[in-house]
This record gives sequence, C-alpha cells and structure tokens, in this order.
Amino acid sequence: MEQFDCLVVGAGAAGIGVGCVLQDLNIGRFSILDRGTIGASFRLWPKEMRMITPSFTGNAYGLLDLNSISLRTSPAYTLGTEHPSGDEYADYLEALARYRKLPVQTGVDVQRIRPLDGGGFELDTDQGVLRSRYVIWAAGEFQYPRTDSFPGAEYTVHNSQVQKWEGMPGDDYICC
Ligand SMILES: Cc1cc2nc3c(=O)[nH]c(=O)nc-3n(C[C@H](O)[C@H](O)[C@H](O)COP(=O)(O)OP(=O)(O)OC[C@H]3O[C@@H](n4cnc5c(N)ncnc54)[C@H](O)[C@@H]3O)c2cc1C
Repeated sequence: MEQFDCLVVGAGAAGIGVGCVLQDLNIGRFSILDRGTIGASFRLWPKEMRMITPSFTGNAYGLLDLNSISLRTSPAYTLGTEHPSGDEYADYLEALARYRKLPVQTGVDVQRIRPLDGGGFELDTDQGVLRSRYVIWAAGEFQYPRTDSFPGAEYTVHNSQVQKWEGMPGDDYICC
C-alpha cells in the first residue's frame, strides 16, 4: 500500500493552493486527490457566473492578483479578464498545477477516512485504500449544498443545480 506524508482531498482553489505550499516546503510524498478534475466545482458553475472580487493587484499584501492562490501568478494576466467565469478559473488552476508539476490524481473519490492507532490515517477511495501521515480536507462546500438550511429554502435553487441562468422559467431571480 502506498504511504504518503500528506494527502490533500480536493483539487479546487484550496487544494491546489495548499499543494503549492507543500511543494515549497519540500514535503516529499504528497498527493492531491480529486473525484473529478482540477477545479471541478468551478466547471459546475452556471455559465454566466463570474468571480465577485475583481482580479487586480493587492500590493498591500504583496499579491499580484487578489484571486491568485499562489505567489507570482495571476488569473487576470493569464486569462485576460478581470472577473473570470468558472471555466476560466478552472483553466487557471489547471495551468498552475501543470506549471508547478503538482502530483494531482483525478478521478479518485475519497469515501471514508479512518485514524490509525499508531498515528496517521487510512483513506478508502473508489480506487483503493491509501495511507497518509497527514490529511488536508480541501473538498469545499459547493458540492455539498445544504438545501434545507432555512425556512423557505424549498423555494430556492442552489447554484450547483443550475447549468445556466439563461432559459430558466420565470422573470425575476435574486442571487445571494
Ligand atoms: C458567485 C461566486 C463568486 C465568487 N467569487 C470569488 C472571488 O471573486 N474571489 C474568491 O476568492 N472567491 C470567490 N468565490 C468563492 C470561491 O469560489 C470558493 O471559496 C472556492 O471555490 C472554494 O474552493 P475550495 O477549493 O475550498 O472548494 P471547491 O472549489 O469546491 O473544490 C473542492 C474540490 O474537492 C473535490 N472533492 C469534493 N469531495 C471530494 C471527495 N470526497 N473526494 C475527492 N474529491 C472531492 C471536488 O471535486 C472539487 O474539485 C466565489 C464563489 C461564488 C459562488
């Protein structure tokens, strides 16, 4: 069974970002697992949806771009847009993972995590069992929506269930 120092679950913004940090820290045996593709949640965004924060430089923080997840990179410069769409942002994450040669394994669904008596964790995935000293959960919330979290929620549609707003029935929508 393959042994890792660190496994990151999720290759979204958090997973790819922390992967860059693990690489900078010279953590030897780590891998980033994703049930889908790199940036899978962003690929599921409704077609019209855009990042809210404009991609501009944040000099006070030393960041090239407020929407970047790694120093010296910028979705705005890479994509040529100030408010990236979901697909565009996923393109940025894929380009970054390729550029940094991050050890990403796609198509691996993590189904259960067990702590081991001697330390570390065992992960059940649909591709087999993996062991790791540390696990970083970066699986996000977008793919786990709580659709009954407030009274009246039954009258709403969560973004993750909409492919595009264009063509939806009715005239008025409030996004929040
Ligand atoms: C309309 C909108 C605009 C936004 N604008 C901005 C903005 O301008 N700037 C900004 O910084 N943020 C913005 N955000 C927030 C930002 O998109 C989220 O904070 C970010 O996507 C969260 O990233 P994540 O990596 O935590 O999760 P995700 O992007 O959801 O990534 C999680 C990954 O984990 C994988 N995964 C899940 N479960 C498993 C499992 N069991 N096994 C294996 N893999 C798994 C998924 O496939 C996915 O790829 C915006 C969000 C919305 C909705």
